[in-house]
This record gives sequence, structure tokens and C-alpha cells, in this order.
Amino acid sequence: MKRSSLPKETLRLLSYCPLCRETGQGVEANILGSEGNLCVWHVRTRSCGHALLAMVLKNKELVSAVGIATDLSAEDVLRVMNQKSVSIDDVLCAHQSFGDTAFLERLLMMI
Ligand SMILES: [Zn+2]
Repeated sequence: MKRSSLPKETLRLLSYCPLCRETGQGVEANILGSEGNLCVWHVRTRSCGHALLAMVLKNKELVSAVGIATDLSAEDVLRVMNQKSVSIDDVLCAHQSFGDTAFLERLLMMI
């Protein structure tokens, strides 16, 4: 994860927490990844502890952002982003496992 000096327009979008309305210095934003004009940010508010996962798209002079509230840390997001995708075979295996009584008993023992 790298810290970045934020371009002015991106700073404006990412320096506000819609959950507690904190702005500016109380908001910590870290870039988690980028590809082309698209950047993924983890934005955490120090005062409320809430976090947002934001995708920011820069297209010439226009900047747009979509964010979702999350309880994931930046490290958690990076770990999830770097995992392989779930395949159809994974889904079928999970479906079959939930019909297996022995599997369910083992699963309950883990709780
Ligand atoms: Zn907040």
C-alpha cells in the first residue's frame, strides 16, 4: 500500500466521510491499486473509525467516484483483491458440501 500525494480533485472527493461528516485532516486515504484511469482507495475516518472503499475514475478533466462503506482494513482489502477468483467448480463444491452431513458436522465442530 502506498501513500500518495492527492491531486486536488481527488482530495476533495476523498476527504469527506459521509457517515460522520468529518472532513480534511481527520480522514486518512490510501491508494490500494490503480489500472489506467481507475484507482481504488481505502478511506478511513480517524474520529469514527468507519472506512469507505472508493473507486475513482479520472477521465481528462472529469473525476467520478463510487464508494461503499466497509469494515475491512486496507490490509484486508489488499488480501481480498489478491486472491484468485471463485470458479464455477468452487461454487459446485460448496453446494455439494452443504448437502453432506459429515461436512456439516465438521463445520459445526469448528464453531
Ligand atoms: Zn466517519
